[in-house]
Amino acid sequence: MLCAHVITLFSEVFESFLAHPLLVKATDNKAISIALHNLRDFAHDNHRSVDDMPFGGGPGMVLMPGPLFEAVESITKDHDVDRVILMTPQGELLNQRTVLSLSKLPGFVVICGRYEGVDERVREHLVTDELSIGDYVLAGGELPAMVLLESIVRLLPGVVGCAESTFDESHSFAMLEYPQYTRPSKFRAWKVPKVLLSGDHQRIERWRARQSLLRTLTKRPDLVAGWQNVRESQEIYERLSKALNND
Ligand code: SAH
Repeated sequence: MLCAHVITLFSEVFESFLAHPLLVKATDNKAISIALHNLRDFAHDNHRSVDDMPFGGGPGMVLMPGPLFEAVESITKDHDVDRVILMTPQGELLNQRTVLSLSKLPGFVVICGRYEGVDERVREHLVTDELSIGDYVLAGGELPAMVLLESIVRLLPGVVGCAESTFDESHSFAMLEYPQYTRPSKFRAWKVPKVLLSGDHQRIERWRARQSLLRTLTKRPDLVAGWQNVRESQEIYERLSKALNND
């Protein structure tokens, strides 16, 4: 079972997230346990302060190193923890490959920053990974932590109904997923592509592979650079040959 420990000042933000059926199923099935740790429990003064003004001046407050170090150390003392992840807009951009590798770990800690962020010594001496969910700045690391957790939870065995649905989808192989349609087969003036109603699975597979290729090339040409990765290229090669195969 994967044990995720989240250090936050606003644990209430996680309530509805953890009550969602996907998360309930994952915790009931013992695929994951998510423990919330309140950073204020590791403050020492009467006001339970966890932040202070930045040395050198400037706006906002900075999370002090003391409570963050103590919070992480109190977790690692009793639990198997491989990584200490800081959510930060300065981190490596989160992608499906990182999500997959984190989903295979026994445990990790996620630190949610706030205000102007965390004291640099936390980043230098406590954190092992820095992750960003995109090139924009949020007020805190709670939403990024939930993004990270949800993307991981979907990949855990027995959580998403059909394992294939996480295998085929966008970014699994640095390719975008083909277009999906459901009933009705004609909605207003728009018909579902005929091939999908043909019942010919090989033709459907080829059509999907072509769409997947076309979409990636037109919507996300940047992903094509990632196809150089050897392990991926085998999969991508197969997809490409399927896509280029004549009907
Ligand atoms: N002053 C900092 C930003 C602080 S934002 C800077 O310029 O780098 C406050 C907190 O929100 C951060 O510590 C981080 O935990 C979280 N956060 C904001 N945007 C984020 C993003 N894009 N990805 C991950 N975490 C983010």
